[in-house]
Amino acid sequence: MRKELEIKLTPAEAFDPTRWKLIVANLLRIPAGRIYHLRPIKRSIDARHKVFYRLKVEVFIGEHLPFSEKISAPVYPDVRNRTPVIIVGAGPAGLFAALTLLGHGYKPVIFERGKDVKARKFDISMLNRGEKLNPDSNYCFGEGGAGTYSDGKLYTRSTKRGNVTDILNTLVAHGASEDILIDAHPHIGTDKLPGIIASIRRSIIESGGEVHFNIKVTGLIIKNDKVKGVTDDSGNEFRAESVILATGHSARDVFEFLHKQGIALEAKPFALGVRIEHPQQLIDSIQYHLPERGPHLPAATYNLVTQVGGRGVFSFCMCPGGIIVPAATGPDETVVNGMSNSKRNSAYANSGIAVAIEPEDWKQFEASGPFAALELQQSIERKAWDAAGNSLKAPAQRLSDFIENRVSASLPESSYNPGLVSVSLNEILPDFLSSRLKQAFADFDAKMRGYLTSEAVLVGVESRTSSPVRIPRNNETLQSPQVGGFYPCGEGAGYAGGIVSSAIDGVRCALAVAGKPT
Ligand SMILES: Cc1cc2nc3c(=O)[nH]c(=O)nc-3n(C[C@H](O)[C@H](O)[C@H](O)COP(=O)(O)OP(=O)(O)OC[C@H]3O[C@@H](n4cnc5c(N)ncnc54)[C@H](O)[C@@H]3O)c2cc1C
Repeated sequence: MRKELEIKLTPAEAFDPTRWKLIVANLLRIPAGRIYHLRPIKRSIDARHKVFYRLKVEVFIGEHLPFSEKISAPVYPDVRNRTPVIIVGAGPAGLFAALTLLGHGYKPVIFERGKDVKARKFDISMLNRGEKLNPDSNYCFGEGGAGTYSDGKLYTRSTKRGNVTDILNTLVAHGASEDILIDAHPHIGTDKLPGIIASIRRSIIESGGEVHFNIKVTGLIIKNDKVKGVTDDSGNEFRAESVILATGHSARDVFEFLHKQGIALEAKPFALGVRIEHPQQLIDSIQYHLPERGPHLPAATYNLVTQVGGRGVFSFCMCPGGIIVPAATGPDETVVNGMSNSKRNSAYANSGIAVAIEPEDWKQFEASGPFAALELQQSIERKAWDAAGNSLKAPAQRLSDFIENRVSASLPESSYNPGLVSVSLNEILPDFLSSRLKQAFADFDAKMRGYLTSEAVLVGVESRTSSPVRIPRNNETLQSPQVGGFYPCGEGAGYAGGIVSSAIDGVRCALAVAGKPT
């Protein structure tokens, strides 16, 4: 017999399955020995008053977990001699498109401008030391895409658009902890993600798919309104009747070549702001109502949203126990983002705080056309670069000084390794952004007392929240209405935001290639 029930656990009990069994047996008034298996279904923290965990479990009474319900690595067919499908970009969208194609008997051929995930680490380290940016291998470009050296948060709002559980199961089959299947806010961590990405690559190659690094795609081959393949920056041509383009939100050169080839593009609303960093202990004490979180609670997180002047202002990609990282992809621009390792054990809590940007915002700068939003994004990144003294350092200001319009006389310690430069962020951000941010911080402080503090530092700029350009595609076929066989995919094309939703979009594009329902 199987039963589902929810149990309330102290933080110390939450990760101790032996305790769960005893508590469940007690609740059901049966001997613990009658419980053959306990399957956790959902685990979440309830910190509204006293902090405890809620754990939903499936109880197997006098019955074992059937083998068919265990998660095992998927077995893909050999596709060596099957129809090739070109995938440009090895981010979550490209990799999950590749796995799905394997499952349907197609041969995925991935071209990635960056390096494999191990070699990429070297360039990431150089960036963290503030030494040099490699425009093809950085926090956004390289195997695994933008999500590899990240916090690896796996929650998404896009449950309707695909099967989130399938994505999480595939990650577990490639080495992620089963905890991601039950945690309400699952995350993997930057120390674990590279191994999972490498394991996905092995699945693709072992089944006869191909993964090519250091190949920058610079054009589509089009004949009679149908795609016939792609070209690269060395003049090579690669042929296939279907091309999935999953190049992410930062491949500005891809938008340029598409535009030159006459593919329609649209400016797209996105969001821009700053990254805020607090001492983690401060966020813990606000969220858990405790002076110290102790050994059993994770670094506390938050999720804040408000409306100011008709625009949403929201926390974005919050990284508890994380660090702020340099996430630019080209010269003369400053962009920051955040990441954490699996233990989330740094002394800092950082989060993007972004303001939604709509067409009227770029119109006030008299910008129009498909690159209008991108140009606004780029101009702010360039101002940030100039303000930081043309280096990988980042412009920064204490939160309280930002609110009161004064340059900080000193900056607090920060996790941002290349270093901070004290500036007035008002001079980097247009007024319609900085005024909304100021009001939003006051609103956030009303929700989390102590959030607005001089101990917090704002670091600029958080500009790569989503793509500022959309590549139109047919809602049903997911192909470009102009070029048959061409599938704009993932975050860069404007159809996803975040690791899981990009992976889901990759699956959908692959299903569309295979002629299956999406
Ligand atoms: C530091 C950081 C932290 C993040 N943290 C999180 C998080 O915790 N959770 C979350 O959900 N999201 C996070 N994100 C966002 C997430 O990474 C993206 O939403 C997601 O990776 C988008 O997936 P994608 O496959 O569409 O594109 P991307 O991941 O951007 O992948 C695109 C790939 O295409 C390649 N490419 C680009 N141009 C070319 C070309 N011309 N030729 C060949 N290859 C090309 C790039 O090198 C890249 O590998 C983070 C992003 C960053 C930068």
